[in-house]
Amino acid sequence: MVKDSHAIGVDVGGTKILAGVVTREGEVLRRHERTTPTGSQDALLGELEAAVRELVDAKVTTVGFGLPSTIDQRAGRAVASVNIPLANLAFRDRMHDALRLPVGIDNDANAAGIAEWKVGAGRRTADMIILTVGTGLGGGVILNGKPMRGGSGAGAELGHTVIVHDGRPCQGTCTGRGHLEPYVTGVAATNAAREVFGPAADAHRLVRLAREGDATAIAILAEIGRYLGSGMGSLVNIFDPELIVVGGGFGVAAGEFLLGPAREILHREALPPGRDKVRVVQAELGTAAGLIGAAFVAFEALDAAS
Ligand SMILES: [Zn+2]
Repeated sequence: MVKDSHAIGVDVGGTKILAGVVTREGEVLRRHERTTPTGSQDALLGELEAAVRELVDAKVTTVGFGLPSTIDQRAGRAVASVNIPLANLAFRDRMHDALRLPVGIDNDANAAGIAEWKVGAGRRTADMIILTVGTGLGGGVILNGKPMRGGSGAGAELGHTVIVHDGRPCQGTCTGRGHLEPYVTGVAATNAAREVFGPAADAHRLVRLAREGDATAIAILAEIGRYLGSGMGSLVNIFDPELIVVGGGFGVAAGEFLLGPAREILHREALPPGRDKVRVVQAELGTAAGLIGAAFVAFEALDAAS
């Protein structure tokens, strides 16, 4: 284990790239934000390399990426992505060749889940679920004190569980219908806001209006929260977690406007004892969770290599 070193964690979102230098204790020393290029895979990879190079110094010994993608951990591949142009790429090798540092990769929501579990809202829990509500809806599961990544490393895509048979078409490249994601994202909120408040409205304005007490905005967010609660109810029935943490840009901004209605529906759909035990809370690390978690994944890769 290389002790006195720092990691760069990179959280790749559908809208923003957040990169930061992080200690082993999860402290963010400095950070930068860039817009995610969505035009081509090459443009995206170039921007990710630039984000790392901007931050790297002598103490940085490893780099981790949280990708909004399904991951093949063994091969280090980004297999497919719903909201960014990244597919079928040996991502870990490509970044290792470009940056000459050990590279760790994970799904972005898994990374956020690991951060919240180690140093955020999930400290001292063994069984925890995270849902990151942003451009997409990411999910991660900590089970028996370990991140659950499934057989190939692609788990857990909780945003692509079906909550409405033959319902709304899913976002981006996902071919599914009625998944949780098209009902519970910043994109879904923007769509709903535009129907009521006109084409200039978006998710940010919706949250601002709700905070000012606008009953229509509060009702729209509550409806999104109830869909979120439907998904949570099923997750409680499957995993029986102690805690569900809700993060992501829109999830953090909308906060209790979503979580209050979500808890009501969760309580209707989930069975005891899970429904009576589980707590639904906001992420503590805010929008930094993804980059802190990506740094923890980086340290994991560094320790495995040394
Ligand atoms: Zn989907």
